Amino acid sequence: MKKSLLLGVAFAIVTSCGTSSKSSANTTQTNISEQIDPSVYASTITSAELKTMLYKYASDEFEGRDTGAKGQKMAVEYLKQKYIDMNIPTPLGGDDYFQEVPLEKQKVAKAKLTVNGDVFKSFEDQIVLMVSNDVDTTIKNIVYVGYGIDDENYSDYKTIDVKGKYVLAKSGEPKDTGGNFVTSGTTDATKWTNGRQSLSSKREAAIANGALGLIYMDGDLFSRYSNFYQRQAESGVAGRLSLKTNDNGLIMLMINETLGKALHASIIEESTPKEIETNVTLEIENKSESITSENVVAYIKGSERPDEIVVLSAHLDHEGIKNGEIYNGADDDGSGTVAILEIAQAFKAAEKAGHGPKRSILFLHVTGEEKGLLGSRHYTDNDPIFPLEDTVADLNIDMIGRTDPERTIGTRNYVYLIGSDKLSTDLHNLSEDVNSKYTNLELDYKFNAEDDPNRFYYRSDHYNFAKNNIPVIFYFNGTHADYHKPSDTPDKIEYDLLETRAKLVFYTAWEVANRDQRLVVDKAVTE
Ligand SMILES: [Zn+2]
Repeated sequence: MKKSLLLGVAFAIVTSCGTSSKSSANTTQTNISEQIDPSVYASTITSAELKTMLYKYASDEFEGRDTGAKGQKMAVEYLKQKYIDMNIPTPLGGDDYFQEVPLEKQKVAKAKLTVNGDVFKSFEDQIVLMVSNDVDTTIKNIVYVGYGIDDENYSDYKTIDVKGKYVLAKSGEPKDTGGNFVTSGTTDATKWTNGRQSLSSKREAAIANGALGLIYMDGDLFSRYSNFYQRQAESGVAGRLSLKTNDNGLIMLMINETLGKALHASIIEESTPKEIETNVTLEIENKSESITSENVVAYIKGSERPDEIVVLSAHLDHEGIKNGEIYNGADDDGSGTVAILEIAQAFKAAEKAGHGPKRSILFLHVTGEEKGLLGSRHYTDNDPIFPLEDTVADLNIDMIGRTDPERTIGTRNYVYLIGSDKLSTDLHNLSEDVNSKYTNLELDYKFNAEDDPNRFYYRSDHYNFAKNNIPVIFYFNGTHADYHKPSDTPDKIEYDLLETRAKLVFYTAWEVANRDQRLVVDKAVTE
């Protein structure tokens, strides 16, 4: 789906600094501010500099920049040095350009659990599903919450306080006298009825009610999971890398019926929530491996509205080394990384000339994107350096140095834009106008379609801002044969295109940061 580039609005000619002249023939309001000509600063963004930096950043020396590994540490040092050289400060103060992102590699934990002196072993009677710290405790009281359902029409938590306590729940959903499920009033299974979905629904309910631990009896799921968990534990293989859960995360065990009955003899027949006396000891050693990683942050303070923040983001990590082969990630996302550096340099040049941005600009290089958007999620969910409500937009660049071989229409002077109109019509119009005025790329919205099967809107770091109703644009060239392959190397980058696309992001950021009115969010998503 390609959008026409022809706009009905003609722009006034931009004059040099300070003075502005409005076209007399055209009184239509445009989205573009006309005071200062940013093209003199945009001209500092050059294909030659982008190339020099990318040949370094995506070289074998950086070992594919795998999150937490040596190459990623080299990458963050490289970025930090660039900002120091450009004399662009960090919002964290001093020379602290790193926002630490605590991660862990999940490993299956084993629990020692006794009930009245009888031992119930891991994988035979119980599995640890969630734990964030070591546990060594005696449990004298458990709150039995029946099915562990907490829904509008039916709740096992209504009459009983579980705050800071261990709760015991069983699988399934009761039916009313008419044979319908209690939460839906129909015979269709609900999110509480069975399987994986009921497990996560009941976990969320326990968390929402402030439980410390959830002991969940599901004989069916237990027999399906136990062998797999045992193999994982014995092989010592670490699972996915994830953001380290906070210290008061829920402790969750799944148990079989044998252990369920030992804890509460009438657990099968009885569903009434109540406190039960127990004599349980529980020891869990959390074997997950802690890993540290960093986002790199740099910032130019706004001259007039310093509290309003425009974020420019790109991920600094890639896939590392696999089977002895280095995944250089020149396009993904070396291209976005060096583009941000060049854009930062352009804004700095403007500031030096007395034309610093009116709003503040945060240059945000995030880690762990390839592992599941971890660095950006840490920023938005755990540690936003600037309040999210003051964050005006996120312009995110992920892969802008190549062309899409599948794109057969139009010229090579294109870029895919994703998300520009999802939250703010204002941002979308501004972006279109800026492009028409300065860069004249074909803005291709093919992947912006609601039903795009690739779901790119959800697949890069901007999404963590968008989910907070912060307008975003995701700049992207599409995938290609070298995507996530060792062959994504800097010699294959089309540097002239990289330059033009970086300039488009610069001009767009310039307008968002400098125009009088903050971007209007007219399509906020409410839950
Ligand atoms: Zn990638």
